Amino acid sequence: MSVSPVIITTWRFGLAASVRGLELLKSGSSALDAIEAAANVTELDPEVNSVGLGGLPNADGIVELDAAIMDGLTHAAGSVAGVTDIATPISIARKVMDLTPHTMLVGQNARAFALRNGFHTEELLTEKSRKAWQEWQKERSASDVSHFTSGPPILTPDNHDTIGLCALDTHGNLAAGCTTSGMAWKVPGRVGDSPIIGSGLYVDNAVGAAAGTGHGDEMMKAVVSYRVVQNMERGMTPEEACIETLRYMMAKRNPELHGNYGAALIAVRKDGLVGAAATKSGFAGPDRLWQWAVGKDDCTLHEGVYVTPTEIIPSLLT
Ligand code: ASP
Repeated sequence: MSVSPVIITTWRFGLAASVRGLELLKSGSSALDAIEAAANVTELDPEVNSVGLGGLPNADGIVELDAAIMDGLTHAAGSVAGVTDIATPISIARKVMDLTPHTMLVGQNARAFALRNGFHTEELLTEKSRKAWQEWQKERSASDVSHFTSGPPILTPDNHDTIGLCALDTHGNLAAGCTTSGMAWKVPGRVGDSPIIGSGLYVDNAVGAAAGTGHGDEMMKAVVSYRVVQNMERGMTPEEACIETLRYMMAKRNPELHGNYGAALIAVRKDGLVGAAATKSGFAGPDRLWQWAVGKDDCTLHEGVYVTPTEIIPSLLT
């Protein structure tokens, strides 16, 4: 029996990826292939400044990319972190999964592995992203060796985001993916939540799939995507599962330090029901409201479902 396919992606910029993914799913592609091809659309779009080509760089002006992919059918996963000069890290992650006995490769060796497997290098900094980095450099104090202690904030509304993707194919199989340049101006070598299986993404064919975007340094400590899938296994809807996970995560954070950070989760249950939630509406700034793109019969953008810090941590109300 054929199942109605579904794809769900994070952010407004996920819409083009969802369109491509749904097209493939409708023509019978596996969820895994659809996720990879859909993610490639965003990775290769130079206008998206937080993923692949045109992504904002680390503090040294180098674009370092993180990505992962996971197959619900086989429970196999592949992941790469800190990859430079290659625009499509989710496809390298797929090769790690398909061609090696390992799950994760990092840095220069992930890059070398990709080159041995037919990938090519290119300049990932665009004129726009180079200028943004130069502006940040100008404002930064020369004595700020840690990149954090002085100067402009490392995390601003418009300098990070991930495309997280979850899909259900016509055979009833699920897959999930994530790809990002991470936080702009990050300390070189910093790896976020996106390539961490269980944090940036997780899928269990018997239950559902989940993926995230937001402040990865905090999200990874709550292993959020794994928790969303576990919540669905315990009977919650995808939306309830995302909300409960964000509440849990926020309750564990020190509100003085982390009360205002942004995090968002998307999920698909094995029967095709979708859901999402975010810690706040404008964590990516007033122009970048939390939205996610759902591809079912056609592709539509959705907004809303906010779990605000004030709702979770009463001390913030004062
Ligand atoms: N989760 C990403 C990271 O921390 C950034 C984002 O999605 O906003 O690397």
